[in-house]
Amino acid sequence: MLNHTDLGNGRKLQAQILHALLQGRSPDRSELLRNGVAAATRRVWEDLVHSGAVVVNESGRVVAAYPLSATPTRHIVEVGSFKTWANCAIDALAVPRMLGRSGRITSECAHCGTAITIEVAGETVLGTPASIVVGYGGLADCCDRPAIEARCPYISFFCSTEHADSWVRPGSWVGEFLPLPRAAAVAADRFRSIIDVYRSVFSPESSWPE
Ligand SMILES: [Zn+2]
Repeated sequence: MLNHTDLGNGRKLQAQILHALLQGRSPDRSELLRNGVAAATRRVWEDLVHSGAVVVNESGRVVAAYPLSATPTRHIVEVGSFKTWANCAIDALAVPRMLGRSGRITSECAHCGTAITIEVAGETVLGTPASIVVGYGGLADCCDRPAIEARCPYISFFCSTEHADSWVRPGSWVGEFLPLPRAAAVAADRFRSIIDVYRSVFSPESSWPE
């Protein structure tokens, strides 16, 4: 059971991990517990991992911290000088919101592979083709697997509803197709607590390169 101090340290640790991923660094447990978050204890770290907020590999290196991925995905997010990867289309839409700035998402249609570029300010989608939709779902028969396997690979952008309809979906995929503005609103809502955590440590005025 985490106490009040642990919860505060957990928020700091989670924000530090997100900030490292924004900078293109993939921290590991020993680095994080040694630097910057000295007050964070092993149980704070373990709580973040067990809750699924942070995904690590066998050696304790961070693979993902929602909404960000430490390894390349097809969803690239640029905000200011930060350039990083998101785990899925919905996660990508949450990143500019998390940073409180406008940003650019570069991805591709999951059906035809055509490049898709989306400009976002906060949760407002700017000047992007109105036809783009997001397939928001996952594999129904993989509930015992982590989201990064059962859901993230199947939450994608599509050029149009026609391409979403034509997409050859994996057998057990269940989900819905959202217009882009609706997907951005879902992203902001789903990531509200993580956005708060990040902003409580890294405010829009602090330490962000242009
Ligand atoms: Zn397409």
